[in-house]
Order: sequence, then structure tokens, then C-alpha cells
Amino acid sequence: MEQIKNFIGGKLISSQSVRTLPVFNPATGQSIRQVALSTAHETKFAIESAHQAFQEWSKTSPLKRARILFKFKSLLEENQSHLARLISEEHGKIYSDAVGELTRGLEVVEFACGIPHLQKGEHSANVGAGVDSHSLMQPLGVCAGITPFNFPAMVAMWMFPIALATGNTFVLKPSEKDPSLSIELAKLLQQAGLPDGVFNVVQGDKEAVDVLLTDPHVQAVSFVGSTPVAEYVYATASAYGKRCQALGGAKNHSILMPDADLEMAANAIIGAAFGAAGERCMALSVVLAVGDEIADELVTKLRQQIDRMVVGAGISEGRENDMGPVISEQHRSKICDYINSGVEQGAKLLVDGRGYQVTGHENGYFVGPTLFDYVTPEMKIYKEEIFGPVLSIVRVPDYHTALKLINHHEYGNGAAIFTRDGETARQFSEDVQTGMVGINIPIPVPMAFHSFGGWKRSIFGPLNVHGNDGVRFYTRMKTVTSRWPASVRLEHHSSSFVMPTME
Ligand code: NAD
Repeated sequence: MEQIKNFIGGKLISSQSVRTLPVFNPATGQSIRQVALSTAHETKFAIESAHQAFQEWSKTSPLKRARILFKFKSLLEENQSHLARLISEEHGKIYSDAVGELTRGLEVVEFACGIPHLQKGEHSANVGAGVDSHSLMQPLGVCAGITPFNFPAMVAMWMFPIALATGNTFVLKPSEKDPSLSIELAKLLQQAGLPDGVFNVVQGDKEAVDVLLTDPHVQAVSFVGSTPVAEYVYATASAYGKRCQALGGAKNHSILMPDADLEMAANAIIGAAFGAAGERCMALSVVLAVGDEIADELVTKLRQQIDRMVVGAGISEGRENDMGPVISEQHRSKICDYINSGVEQGAKLLVDGRGYQVTGHENGYFVGPTLFDYVTPEMKIYKEEIFGPVLSIVRVPDYHTALKLINHHEYGNGAAIFTRDGETARQFSEDVQTGMVGINIPIPVPMAFHSFGGWKRSIFGPLNVHGNDGVRFYTRMKTVTSRWPASVRLEHHSSSFVMPTME
């Protein structure tokens, strides 16, 4: 069976590790490839390769680095269909959703192509008599990226395009559940002209991650995954003196106000709750319906729409399915346990996705769209991230109760409100304690030229990914204050022992 390789120093290298895992096609339940879990020694080799490449790459002009990324962008476009099929095959999401993920990643590449402008730094002339000041935004060195299974292309591309554009070298440790795409990205970067060693991929698990978090050559770590692992990564990388951004889990709420355009809101909610089988960190998993009247109307509309949804393989002949399988058998059973707990704790199960069968794919990891009503904040299905196609409706008496619930939740990734009232919407965006806010937009994922990140236990570290925060994360600021000959001569005549202030 094909074993997915590492990509180190510009070469595809088979891991010598004795630990391997099967990679499954979640739509069929069949093992299609195998991935080796790289050893600490192999991970160190990748870091060393990136360290060696840093010297020259960091001195390459930003314009030249940008041109390689321009070429990479065209190659991504040329290879879109192959890449999207590969994502769909190993992750399970439907083909057009895989194209969507690639597009969002590609937009970060487009943003990074502007690096000659983004990395200019600042300049002030005459900050004092004959004195100028300018800043340099210098690369850090070797940067590491550790990514989750749910966006094998997009999340990696939140990180490395900006890291490379700013002059860093990179080691990517993709999810062991859908690792193939990482190698395709590495090959395309090489084809685009990226020098060997600048971008490396190490397949693996905690053993590889621990080396990335502690090796002295690694200067910065970007992590995206579940909150417990994010906390561990942030604490360990920080203890080893590294810069770290660690994005964690989520429980995204939306408030449905009585004045909302219900048709629009119901359509938006369905897509945001069940797209990618709910395996998105920005998936909408809770609706706070303000008042019983709108809650009842919403339930009717959601049930009608769920009835029309077609669940099946990510890649299908003819009409595309609406939703694919979840990532693994283990994850399917975890989601079903959550549904069981919702029932046991008294929520009203309106649509039950347990035991969902897709003809011809009897061994696939399918969970049907699941809808709960009368969910309360004490229930496990409300408190925890399910990461599956399970939508909970919580009925609340007013806007303030709804806002309080969002603000008291441990996660603070995204939140949305559906309303026609501008004042309520404005108040919501001011008061809600989440990093990303949607006003009649169910999944408010910022564009590449803005930054993405949550609040509370959805992120650890001060800087978000991509946009200006991304450029700041991957660069170190140095500010130069300079005075030229005439005044330098003056300096020789007198010393000053007071704090310098500009005149
Ligand atoms: P995960 O935490 O299991 O794995 C993420 C990465 O960490 C993988 O590369 C994995 O190999 C590695 N890893 C796992 N356990 C580890 C350990 N004990 N020590 C060191 N490394 C470890 O997450 P997942 O299941 O792949 O992804 C789903 C999670 O990611 C969800 O919680 C989701 O909300 C979150 N996510 C968050 C965002 C965001 O932007 N906030 C985006 C995507 C996904």
C-alpha cells in the first residue's frame, strides 16, 4: 500500500519509523494509504534542513519571494481539480466544498504576493534635528505549522505563504488523518521555484510535534486544532522561548431575533450547521431563538430543508451531495454519544442522524443531519464542541439573555445575529465576546487581508492568523534611529548622560 512520504530538503523521503497509521476514505471506510509517524530524529532532520536554507532565503529580495508565490498561485489554480479530489477522498467533504477551501487558502497566497509592500516597515524623517527613524521587519528563522484534519489545504495556507513571503523557512506537520495534500503543496512550491529546504513536511503525531515545540532552531509555532492540544502546544512552545499562536475549538452561536428575515436565516443556518458535516471550527452549532414564535417557525423551516438534504460521498456522479461523511469511525461514534447524551438530558430530538445509511456506502462514516430543540445551557451538547452535524436550538426570552449565554461560554470563536434592526446589530458587534462576528452572515470567516482568530479558549497567543497579524507574527521588528556625518561629528565633542529626547 502507498506510504505517504516526508518532504525534506526538496526530496520525498520515506520515513523509517516503525509506527504507521492507515489513512481512510471516510465515504467507504476503506484504508487507502498509509502514513508513517516520523521519529524525533527525522523531525530534527527537517528542522536542520530548514535552518540551513534560512541563510539564503532570508536574504532573497521580497520581490523575488513574491514572484515564486505568484507562480505557486497559478499552479494551485491549474491543479485545483486534482487537489480538491484528494481533499475530498481523505477528508470526506463534498468536492465543491474542497474547492472552496482551496480558494480560501489561495487568497492568503494572493495576500502574501503583496509582501514587498507589506514588509516595508515604517519610516519617519527628521524625528530630531538631522535624525531619521525606520523599522525593519525581519524574518524569524525556522517556523513550524501544526494543522488539523478538517482543512488540510486552507489551514496550512493560513500559515506558510506569509511565513515564506516574509523570509522564513518552514516545517509543516499535517494531520495524520488526511496527510496527502501536504505533499502535493510541497511539490507545487518546488515547481514554482522555491529553493530546497525552504518548505518541508514531516508526517507524524505527538512525537514529531514535541520536537517542533522544543528544538532550539524553531523560532515560531503556529498551531490549529482542538483546545486541549492548543493549550499544551502554547504552554510548551512558550516555555521553550518560542513565539506561538495556537487556535483551538469553538461553539459558535447565532441569535435569531423576532424581526429576522426567516427565510434567509434558515437557509444560512442549514448551510453553516451541516456544511462539511459540521466539521468546521466556524460551524454554527447553536441557535438562540428569541421567543417561541420565531423558534417554532424556524423549526418548521429547518425540518423541511433537512428533509431535502442529500447525504452521500464527497465525490459523486451527477448531482452533488449536500453533505459527506465525518472523518473516522471513532469520530462518528463520539458524535453519536453526544446525541445520546442530549436525549438523556432531556433535549427534544427532532431529527436523528444516528445510524444513517447511504446505499452503496454501507461502511462509510455517515451521521445524518441532527436537530435538537429545547436545549438548555446545562446540557453537555450545549457546553462542548461536538464537531459534527448536530444543531441545537436554545429558546431564550430576549436578546440580553442570548448575549449573556454567548459571553459566558468558554469558547469565543465566532457568533452571528440575524436581525433587520441596525441598532441591535451594532450593539451586538460591540458587546459580543467572540473574535469574529456575523451580521446576517452565518460563517463570518474574515478574508485573507483581515485576520482570523477567536477569543477566550478558542485562541492562545496575542496574534491571529493571516492579514496584518500574520505578517507581524512571522517578523521581528527592529527600529533604526540614525544621524549622519555633520551631527555625528558634533557628538564627538560632548557626551550626554541623560535619556535622549529629540529636539
Ligand atoms: P487535534 O487537536 O486532534 O489535532 C491537531 C493537530 O495536533 C494534528 O496535527 C495532530 O497530529 C496534533 N496532535 C494531536 N494530539 C496531539 C498531542 N497530544 N500532542 C501534540 N500534538 C497533537 O484536532 P483535529 O481533530 O485534527 O481538528 C479538529 C479541531 O480543530 C476542532 O476542535 C476544531 O474546532 C479545531 N479547529 C480550530 C480552528 C480555528 O481556527 N480555531 C480551525 C480548524 C480546526
